[in-house]
Amino acid sequence: MQDSILVSVHRGTGAGIIVNGQVFLGHNRNVGEIGHIQIDPLGEQCQCGNFGCLETVAANPAIVKRVRTLIEQGYESTLALKEHITIEDVCSHALNGDELAKQSLVRVGNQLGKAIAITINLFNPQKVIIAGDITMAKDILFPAIRRNVENQSLTTFHSDLHCCLRDRQAANHGCFRDDQESDAQRRFVTKTT
Ligand SMILES: [Zn+2]
Repeated sequence: MQDSILVSVHRGTGAGIIVNGQVFLGHNRNVGEIGHIQIDPLGEQCQCGNFGCLETVAANPAIVKRVRTLIEQGYESTLALKEHITIEDVCSHALNGDELAKQSLVRVGNQLGKAIAITINLFNPQKVIIAGDITMAKDILFPAIRRNVENQSLTTFHSDLHCCLRDRQAANHGCFRDDQESDAQRRFVTKTT
């Protein structure tokens, strides 16, 4: 793939960018800090010192923290029974229909989608790959990402764009391989026609 962007969501949120088949390195090999794109001017303070960075919403610790806070505030959730909540718990409970877990991940998808739309407008990639534990809940996450990408990036840039997830096996091989299951669920092509 000549031009692609890998978005990874783990303890933080980052991006790897491939332009013309080469990894885009930037100054001092620092680049792709999409986690520090501001998505909410009145959001929480980020470890970088600024406020409302993507990473304050779309990173594993931030997701779990928000779910825990909402439960403490009295919102109902099947996760309330758990003493220790992990990102896997949030995903599995969301997939099992827990509304709080589900809405939390939709929010993450919306904000990720906004930041991804910005990178699409900047780099016009052929492919966007999403990696991280949250891809367990791709059926919840991807529609939210797709909606935002379609609304916020140029139609000519996203009309043939492939957006897919990188599975753990491929991740272990350190490659972008993702076509082992290239059915409609595993990737979306944001064709508008
Ligand atoms: Zn930040």
